[in-house]
Amino acid sequence: MITQTSISYYGLNYVEHAEADFKEMKAHGVTQVILAVTEFDFDFWRPNIPAIVDKAHELGLRVLIDPWGNGKYFGGEQVSKFLQDNVENRQVSALTGEKLPYACFNTNSYRDYFKNFCTTLAREAKPDGFFWDEPHYAFPKGIASITGGVADDWTCYCPVCRKRFEDYYGYPMPKYMTNDVKQFRWREALVVLSETSKALKEIDPKLEITCCVHATQNGYYVSEYRGYDNWDMVGACPYFDVFSTTIINWALPEDFYLDITRRTVAIAKKYGKKSERWLMGYYKQPKDWAQVAKWVDLAVAEGVDRLAAWTYRGGYGTVVGAPDALKLWDTIGENYRRVLNK
Ligand SMILES: [Zn+2]
Repeated sequence: MITQTSISYYGLNYVEHAEADFKEMKAHGVTQVILAVTEFDFDFWRPNIPAIVDKAHELGLRVLIDPWGNGKYFGGEQVSKFLQDNVENRQVSALTGEKLPYACFNTNSYRDYFKNFCTTLAREAKPDGFFWDEPHYAFPKGIASITGGVADDWTCYCPVCRKRFEDYYGYPMPKYMTNDVKQFRWREALVVLSETSKALKEIDPKLEITCCVHATQNGYYVSEYRGYDNWDMVGACPYFDVFSTTIINWALPEDFYLDITRRTVAIAKKYGKKSERWLMGYYKQPKDWAQVAKWVDLAVAEGVDRLAAWTYRGGYGTVVGAPDALKLWDTIGENYRRVLNK
């Protein structure tokens, strides 16, 4: 049974404008708003963030904070102040040695920056939880996603990662992605999220953590290896409450959607978490609008606990808006109301 229906939201400037948008969300059957807080919002609009969270609560919406695109380590189009302010602590290509425009989340510099970002918002804004949005290493993004090519290069080969690898395994970090490198990447990738989630629960044990990973096949032949593709390791993290997997383009086969949905629910159940599936509420829309109801029904039938969509108004007015953004938003809203029996 679906207990929460979420929509993401970028409009973190004026409380009275957010209020009007929150009312529109309520009319679209939304129960939970995922606030995409950018590094610029944190740096510049801080005074208004708690007021916006308060307003959402006043209107009966739950609020999760999404450190959207933070360090370009999380998914998202926003730019990163961390990268602007730091020439080091970046992910490094194993094959070319180039520094890349992605924060290395295994460095103490980024780990401290990220933890401070989240704990400050937890104390000041008092949300209901946090949403870890597609965390990832820069490379590879393999054919499992059906969005990229086969990858040879990988990250992170920065001095911090190399030293930590050698300290642990007793030999220099290889430039090939061996089994030790895979294990190292999975383990290290969870540290920053586990430590921050733990710190958040120490501030308020009721803060709920959703970890949303890329929706990948992770089969025998192909896997993304972006750090969070080992779903058992992610699901087993004791500080996460909801296991979530990301958006699949409407044009992809239904079997693929169903396979991801089943495996998402299975991992969530195995580790005693709630499960969440995402719908594409921006950029692309289904050829046949009835597909939205069909995929929602498949998620319900498979036992998904929560539905979420990116983003408010179908991305209307942005470069990632769906062709009929407002109709997509309305269609998702109709389905949210339907599954909640509203
Ligand atoms: Zn690194």
